[in-house]
Amino acid sequence: MRTLSPEFTGYGWAPSTAEIARLAGIDPIEVVRYDANVAAAPLPSSRPGAIAAPLARINGYAHGGYPELIAAIARYVGVGTENVVLGAGADDLILLCARAFAGPGDSVAIADDPTYPLFGIGAWLAGAEVDDDGPVLTFCCRPNNPTGALEPLPDARPLAVDEAYFEYCGETSVGLIEGGVIVIRTFSKAFALASARVGYAIADADTARELNARQAPCPVSSLSAALALAALESPPDMTPVVEERERLASALRALGLEPQPSHANFVFVPVDEPRTLGDGLLRQGLAVRVFPTGIRISILDREDDDLLVEALARVLERPSPVASAGGRRVRRLRATAETRIAVRLALDGASRVRVATGAGLYDHFLEQLAFHAGFDLILEGSGDLETGDHHTAEDAALALGDALAAALGDRRGIARYGDAVVPMDDALARAAVDLGGRPAAELQLERDPGLAVHVLSSFAQAARIAVHVEASGRDEHHVAEAAFKAVGRALRTAVRIESEGIPSTKGSL
Ligand code: PMP
Repeated sequence: MRTLSPEFTGYGWAPSTAEIARLAGIDPIEVVRYDANVAAAPLPSSRPGAIAAPLARINGYAHGGYPELIAAIARYVGVGTENVVLGAGADDLILLCARAFAGPGDSVAIADDPTYPLFGIGAWLAGAEVDDDGPVLTFCCRPNNPTGALEPLPDARPLAVDEAYFEYCGETSVGLIEGGVIVIRTFSKAFALASARVGYAIADADTARELNARQAPCPVSSLSAALALAALESPPDMTPVVEERERLASALRALGLEPQPSHANFVFVPVDEPRTLGDGLLRQGLAVRVFPTGIRISILDREDDDLLVEALARVLERPSPVASAGGRRVRRLRATAETRIAVRLALDGASRVRVATGAGLYDHFLEQLAFHAGFDLILEGSGDLETGDHHTAEDAALALGDALAAALGDRRGIARYGDAVVPMDDALARAAVDLGGRPAAELQLERDPGLAVHVLSSFAQAARIAVHVEASGRDEHHVAEAAFKAVGRALRTAVRIESEGIPSTKGSL
């Protein structure tokens, strides 16, 4: 092989989820990664249906490439299709730019230190050196990874500007492409498609043509192209991420840390002993990216970000500025061809609940159940609502039931039985539950808005609990809602830890 610069080192991955799980002694599903700057969950458009058509033709090549995707990218960016170069993620385009512009004996300049390591890797792999002296190409990252800063654009040309995090700040150099600037973007961050590996470069038509000619024949899979196209049909709103970033930053400040101002979906926090802090978090199953002068934390959502703040407080031995998460906590992910449902459940919670699958009424009912049980529950996902809410409501109930079964573990020490009577205006519901491990559903609802009985029995089946309900009244919504609330109240009693033992005379459940 051709010798590379002695400075060359390959890309260093963070520890794998399986390794972290082993280290922390937990199931891999419980590992939370704040180290990859990716979205907390896929977009609703990332569904099996989105890839059904290309999957049916997966045996063939995508003859002619992906003109629809290129046109959609051009529209999204506000340029012509002749300005677009597709690649397998922004990384592919960074490497393409490096090898297109630089070779042995050349210098490539990199603005900012620290910054994204692939710029150096691209230069070295091309045989060039990283040096500010007479560069044939300059890379810069805006907003910069890992700092989140938006530094002034360098004057050097040609200039490749990595805008992987563009969507979080809206600041772009696309207006400068006729003056020697190439912009590199990705679907990995805002569009939540990191594993699909889709990115693109925007350049003047001549440069784009040359880059396309030097690109691999078909660097993007047809499945990934379909997912990217589906995502572009409704670009997500970044406001919640930006708001959550600022909320997390103030929680970190309350913890005595000093996160740097960020324009991206992460914050950089300078600390004295980043390695020790990172290791302390890893032992709790939480991964942040460790740098010589600090740690970088990706923004997920309020609940997960608070988990990290709590864990940081433990490692730093300082009081936590956020409310503590509930005990007997589990994470679950249920994915079928029809739905994808993610559940975070804590039995010893404070009724902090959010259920959002789009199956309106049943989301509301499951929220009622969890709220009245005193659980903390985040149940989110999406399903094929175009076929009605049946699949989504059923899978949400199954996912919640499965999470409850997991959170109960061996069911040692629980009260096991619970009952409740809940009136709601004209409706009255009585419920009794047995968490003994044998699924049963005896449900008599005088009226049902559609799926109430089915959802409750799916929940009972997956949770391996017996649920008895009698509910009557004049309004179907009230009857069903009272039933869900009564099951919640009954669960509140039944899940309570009362002793050390197995709650059965048989000695086993
Ligand atoms: N550029 C920057 C600045 C990044 O932080 C990342 C992801 N870590 C990438 C590019 C890689 O993006 P992609 O997944 O599209 O290759």
